[in-house]
Amino acid sequence: MKSPKKILIANRGVIAIRALRAAKELGYQVASVYSTIDKDQKHLKLSDEAICIGPAAAKDSYLNEAAIISAAELVSADAIYPGYGFLAENSSFAEKCNQSGFKFVGPDPKVIDIMGDKIKAKELVESLGVPIVPGYTGKIGSKEQVEKITDDIGYPVIVKASAGGGGKGMRVVLEKEELWDSVVSAQNEARLAFGNDEVFIEKYLQKPRHIEVQVFGDGKGKMVHLFSRDCSLQRRYQKIVEEAPAKNIPLDKLTEIQDICVKACAELKYEGAGTLEFLYEDGEFFFIEMNTRIQVEHTVTEMITGVDLVQAQLALALEGKFDLEQSNLRINGHAMQCRINAEDPETFIPSPGEITTLHRPGGYHVRFESQAYSGYKVPANYDSLIAEVIVKDNNRNNTINKMRMALDELVVEGIKTNKSLHQKILDDKSFKNIEYYIKYLEEKLI
Ligand code: ADP
Repeated sequence: MKSPKKILIANRGVIAIRALRAAKELGYQVASVYSTIDKDQKHLKLSDEAICIGPAAAKDSYLNEAAIISAAELVSADAIYPGYGFLAENSSFAEKCNQSGFKFVGPDPKVIDIMGDKIKAKELVESLGVPIVPGYTGKIGSKEQVEKITDDIGYPVIVKASAGGGGKGMRVVLEKEELWDSVVSAQNEARLAFGNDEVFIEKYLQKPRHIEVQVFGDGKGKMVHLFSRDCSLQRRYQKIVEEAPAKNIPLDKLTEIQDICVKACAELKYEGAGTLEFLYEDGEFFFIEMNTRIQVEHTVTEMITGVDLVQAQLALALEGKFDLEQSNLRINGHAMQCRINAEDPETFIPSPGEITTLHRPGGYHVRFESQAYSGYKVPANYDSLIAEVIVKDNNRNNTINKMRMALDELVVEGIKTNKSLHQKILDDKSFKNIEYYIKYLEEKLI
């Protein structure tokens, strides 16, 4: 009998255990990698093999391409699962995996490369019929040239790094006097953070919502969407609460944008899971970027569609299996996710350390994605996401009530978490009425 295929999980934390469960349920063998400080991660105990790839600093371990490829070689992996963050959108790493004989679970590295460059991505998707935020993606020349172009776009504008991510390299510019300094400082920040100082200018939308469309393709031109998500509750451009589907948007508008996404990605012969992110204001959608990987908030889509997106990624990458049909996909209920971060709920200062007590929430349609257990030490070296609480009910109001109950049940002792911020959000009237926008949390609730 042929032995089961083996997946190397090149990540840690919430997504590592999520991927391990998906892979094991499908009957695959799992090998995991870890940094020295992560030796007590729960998914390592459940993996068939675990390989140490270096010290705590991410650049020496989870970003250490050679160490990860060597680990894959050592365990004879068939595929490498990147998750999100770290090397998930690094096209040269994806290329190296594929060339070394380990299938990178994700799209063609060429597509990752284009989408990782926001200027190229905007130009490409616009050519495929996707509406984009108006702005300028050409060469940045003199101060006078940039001022003239921006006068035409109209203030306020946002200067963004083409290689940007995680909210870095962005500057909002309210008036002409600030423009040139903002361009130069965005260029400097981008050079330092990404080794690439290319920036572009966009109209700054004042009160948009962040709405995104989940797509999935077989890499040969067959493409489906799995509806929308609303991720408008953000702090410093980082999502805090996510929901599916997006509400209070005319159905014909949503259907139209979902269909446009499918058409554009089919044209690209997009492979696997991807997300097109939009700002939505005054009844219009404007593309901002495409993420060529699984996202933290994929869970809410899973809850309303019943599709296990990580299993779908693995089955496609390892078996070429793709059984999603648009006509079979339906929305069932309303789902919400609260990201639980190890941080002070008021100052947002990270709060690493030992979780002395953990009580997980439970119940019907309540899901808790986490590595954490009583005695687990949250390291200071990585991002502060320690858990996701995900719930689903038949409508949004009931979902909010269910989330309230789930958070009441969640107990994390020993470190601080942002649980009380979530409770404040759930009790907010404007949140309940969907009268919010991407800056709402920062302007009104913090
Ligand atoms: P990153 O890749 O760094 O996350 P994005 O382009 O996805 O950057 O933008 C992150 C967030 O910044 C968006 O969710 C939104 O809140 C805000 N943003 C981006 N572009 C604009 C814009 N043109 N107008 C207003 N807000 C914007």
